[in-house]
Amino acid sequence: MQILDGRKIANDIKDEIAGVVSTLRSNNKKAPHLAAILVGDDGASETYINAKVKACERVGFRSTLIRLKEDVSEDKLIDHIRNINLDSDIDGLIVQLPLPGHIDEIKVKQAIIPSKDVDGFHPENVGKMALNLPTYLPATPAGILELLTRYNIDISGKHCVVIGRSHIVGSPISILLARNSSPGNATVTLTHSRTKNLKEITNKADILIVALGKSSFVTSDMVKKGVCIIDVGISRIKSSKTKSGWKLLGDVDFESVKEKASFITPVPGGVGPMTIAMLLKNTLISSLK
Ligand code: NAD
Repeated sequence: MQILDGRKIANDIKDEIAGVVSTLRSNNKKAPHLAAILVGDDGASETYINAKVKACERVGFRSTLIRLKEDVSEDKLIDHIRNINLDSDIDGLIVQLPLPGHIDEIKVKQAIIPSKDVDGFHPENVGKMALNLPTYLPATPAGILELLTRYNIDISGKHCVVIGRSHIVGSPISILLARNSSPGNATVTLTHSRTKNLKEITNKADILIVALGKSSFVTSDMVKKGVCIIDVGISRIKSSKTKSGWKLLGDVDFESVKEKASFITPVPGGVGPMTIAMLLKNTLISSLK
């Protein structure tokens, strides 16, 4: 079994990006600039947004973090987005999800101008992705493809099973895996909460991508020998053994499946760091346009 070391690959990508930024700077060009909006004070969202801001610093990007109160109105949030859309100094804009219940996520995604939508969530960019046209690929699915590519794991003709059909992970990764392009050309089965005989399906997977948000859900009896497992899930579980009082668990019961898998991503240190690296890559692409 080989660990797919997302932390190491993400660091390699950050080094590559930092190299491009340094060349830009020495040619008197501006550094890429990412803006992020955080609504409310959810602990997990705070952690993710801080990691993104820190990653910007690491590669020499500028970043602007706008913090809005939990009870901010949808109109006020969209005003902030419109201002950033018009600000020629800012290359990319992300709004940290999830948003409070009174705000319509779809409206917010649609308010971001597609050219700055470095999360790749705007319907125009999702459509381009589905049609195999150049666009910003959503960061987590793009990170998964990049990880597979850098470990020379060929997906063409393989049976990929995806658990979870969210708009940010399950649905887009299933589209990307099946596209007629490289990487792509996989045979994809997309499963979800209404799927019957899940275990029968996952046992046929050459590559299993798990994104449902239930810790240690996938166990050894659900996978075949030699499977490549990508664990996207992150659950914060209270722990008395860590300094923070939390520990992170994936959707896969790592200890039980590790002997059967040929490749597996750890949690933490697998898909998470790759997601941030891909966000930086999209922001760089936007700044070079
Ligand atoms: P979500 O919470 O929006 O949706 C969960 C999906 O799982 C749904 O499509 C549902 O149908 C499916 N599901 C639920 N129970 C199921 C079951 N018993 N069998 C089969 N399918 C079932 O999903 P999300 O936003 O993609 O998040 C999933 C997990 O991935 C979460 O833990 C989240 O924190 C994590 N995540 C990690 C990253 C990263 O960078 N590593 C990025 C995004 C999300």
